[in-house]
Amino acid sequence: MKVAIIGGGLGGLSAALALHGKGFDVEVYEQAAELGEVGAGVQLTPNGSRALLSLDLEEELLNVGTETTGKTIYLWDTAETRDFMRLGEENQYGAPYLTFHRADLLGLLKEALEKRKPGAVYLNKCFKSQTQVDDTVNVEFEDGTRISADLVIGADGIHSAVRRSLFGQDQAEFTGCMAWRGLVPADAIDEDIDLKGGSMWLGPKAHIVTYPVRKGKLLNFIAMVDRDDWTVEGWNQKGTTEEAMQDFVGWHKNVHLMVENIETPYKWALIVRQPLADWSKGRVTLLGDACHSTLPFLSQGANMSFEDGVVLARALSAFLDAPEKALRIYEEARKERTKAIVELSAKQLKRVHNPNLQERDQGMEHIDREYESGRVDTRYRWIYGYDAVTTELSE
Ligand SMILES: Cc1cc2nc3c(=O)[nH]c(=O)nc-3n(C[C@H](O)[C@H](O)[C@H](O)COP(=O)(O)OP(=O)(O)OC[C@H]3O[C@@H](n4cnc5c(N)ncnc54)[C@H](O)[C@@H]3O)c2cc1C
Repeated sequence: MKVAIIGGGLGGLSAALALHGKGFDVEVYEQAAELGEVGAGVQLTPNGSRALLSLDLEEELLNVGTETTGKTIYLWDTAETRDFMRLGEENQYGAPYLTFHRADLLGLLKEALEKRKPGAVYLNKCFKSQTQVDDTVNVEFEDGTRISADLVIGADGIHSAVRRSLFGQDQAEFTGCMAWRGLVPADAIDEDIDLKGGSMWLGPKAHIVTYPVRKGKLLNFIAMVDRDDWTVEGWNQKGTTEEAMQDFVGWHKNVHLMVENIETPYKWALIVRQPLADWSKGRVTLLGDACHSTLPFLSQGANMSFEDGVVLARALSAFLDAPEKALRIYEEARKERTKAIVELSAKQLKRVHNPNLQERDQGMEHIDREYESGRVDTRYRWIYGYDAVTTELSE
């Protein structure tokens, strides 16, 4: 069966590996002139690493990724700390918690696919439209070229053209929140900034997440800020250090040190979309951000796309003679979980940007209550414990 994947991002490439592993003839069509990712990090939580490890990528993931020792919470102005999560040797989720430079993770998936199926990726192929005739899907690209496949997967991200071709324009809503993201060279910052574990700085109208990538040579910095004057949702929008600093007036000196040393600060508007009622029509389906884009507060966007790829490959392989049924089974296995993660992620906003955090005592009380170990475990165990390889597929 020939499967065409539209989009060569993290979701598309990992799905290609999962499908190739099950014996499908898979091809990836990417709009860009080369496969690449902006300079920023991505956290592979245990559920995501479990999915990727099942694709026979253990050596590559462990070589390239950085295993986080744990996460610590900091109060925004005093830098008072609390434990958030013990990982590394104390990780209780049954699979590693790894952090990556996005380009490294994408590069690792790209190399693995190139090795296993040379020539599987076609560049400069921007999806335009699709039509389904009998058991064939015909795809046309913006350059006028056409291909046919037995099945098409739209892994073309938040602004998915494949999703539009199936279900029309989506309803997107700005949250009033934007993100700063970028990388800080480790040698530019003080030794009292943790370069082995992750940190989460909580403030009344913003919060910051940092974690090491490239084995601690770089620190990935993401800050989510309540601000309604930036509404562009896209990876490549650059801001300036001066503008970023304005959002952290009054914050601890270590925050200033990190912000001042971000190599290129990128800006990203946080937008929410309602979950889709359906992901598939006939022999075309969706995967990753194309069908369940999420706010980044639980770091699950890419992780969910890895799970999608593994479950989709399993469903198609189990129902080879009935691909449309396989797509329904894939959706049923994935919709409830991804919707729950998207909803929980949206709810995090009140927890991480909370007026109680303005004052020291109330702020620490808020942190002690919300990040008490039992509560943290309840919030995260069902996410990190999921196994895309064994989750039930019901007919
Ligand atoms: C601030 C921030 C931090 C994040 N941190 C994390 C994290 O730590 N962990 C995590 O799991 N997730 C994180 N995410 C989310 C994660 O980045 C996305 O969920 C993930 O990249 C989705 O993968 P995807 O393959 O579905 O889409 P994308 O990565 O967007 O890839 C889509 C691909 O399709 C291509 N494409 C688009 N249109 C077309 C077309 N018409 N034709 C052909 N190709 C096309 C694009 O060029 C791109 O290569 C974060 C997001 C943000 C905003």
